[in-house]
Amino acid sequence: MPERHIYLDYNATTPLRDEVRDAIIEDLTVYGNASSMHEDGRLARARVEEARRAVATLIGAQAGDIIFTSGGSESNNTVFNTMRLIGSAPNGATLASGRTGIITTEIEHPCVLNSAASLKALGFNVTFLPVDEYGKVKMDAYRAALNGSTLFVSVMLANNEIGTIEDVKEIARLAKEAGAWVHTDATQAAGKIPVDVDWLGVDYLTLSAHKIYGPKGIGALYRRKKAPLYPLIHGGHQENGMRAGTYNNTGILGFGKAAELAKNELPEYGRNMAALRDRLLRGLEANVPTIKINGHPKDMLPNTLNVSFPGAEGEAILLSLDMKGIEASTGSACASGSLDPSHVLMAIGMWPELAHGSIRFSLGRNNTEADIDYVIETVPPIISRLRAMSTLGCCNIAASAR
Ligand SMILES: *Cc1c(COP(=O)(O)O)cnc(C)c1O
Repeated sequence: MPERHIYLDYNATTPLRDEVRDAIIEDLTVYGNASSMHEDGRLARARVEEARRAVATLIGAQAGDIIFTSGGSESNNTVFNTMRLIGSAPNGATLASGRTGIITTEIEHPCVLNSAASLKALGFNVTFLPVDEYGKVKMDAYRAALNGSTLFVSVMLANNEIGTIEDVKEIARLAKEAGAWVHTDATQAAGKIPVDVDWLGVDYLTLSAHKIYGPKGIGALYRRKKAPLYPLIHGGHQENGMRAGTYNNTGILGFGKAAELAKNELPEYGRNMAALRDRLLRGLEANVPTIKINGHPKDMLPNTLNVSFPGAEGEAILLSLDMKGIEASTGSACASGSLDPSHVLMAIGMWPELAHGSIRFSLGRNNTEADIDYVIETVPPIISRLRAMSTLGCCNIAASAR
């Protein structure tokens, strides 16, 4: 066992914060059904509603505009499903009826990409916008795609693999001008950078608790009043009829606690993460020859550093790091396990060979300067060893037998 354990995969998921864990443990004894009228039910419901206010506050929304879901994937699917219903039923909605254009990007999370693909298969006119070398949506392509038949625009606020922050405010403004509904997947942005639904001007926004030190299996969808919404899960009247199923009150409470802490500590978090991230960046640049940093030079999540190591293979780097107690990622958790190069790195124009040699370090609250220094010390010999092997033009066995 390595003596160090350094988790640098916070964009895949985060550990529960102690405060969140304690709140959850305390809440596990609250067993009332939050829909019941009696005292136990009312107690559970009060906690749900308090959490709803905390989640709303994180994004500058009203509590009444928050719908709890099972996570970011469900929130995104709920919005796309709503557009499917509006776009296919002629009388589904007043504003958008007759519109079949859907605009999203090439770098979305798979739950958006595959939702969009499912609408395309049904005959919707779906555009996957290209991005530039930094991962920013190409605005000329957006303007060209957007017109009076556009029903819906969905562009993520921050990318999970490279950390680039999109200009969602301007994207939303243009979408509203064209009379389209607009959504942003803010799962990676919330709790890391300021997020305000009114400033952004979006109709829908997606959140997930486990990316902000809350529990897994709980998320939220913000829906602006008057924006259409149809439930993905039919049943009881929970969440104003928008999402059936007995309230996951403990998950919701944990999400609320995580949101409250994230909101209060946002400036401090941003400063700390950016300092650690820059330390890692400088250390790698100084000690590993010819690396490439991916993402936007300025509009970046403070905790994310995606680095390409030409001549070394990503999975091999990850395994070597893991043996030294460092946990990072080759991209999104959902994409790893597949041999295809990351769709995000392909979209920023990277050659597949280089994309295969790219590592995402995503930092979080538990990381220290000493952790970063250990990483800076550990990475260079791994990269030079792997590069030496690959220049042999043969397999690892030959290299070690040499
Ligand atoms: C993690 C993630 C999701 C999925 O959220 P879950 O709660 O895990 O379903 C969606 N979008 C982005 C950008 C993510 O990083």
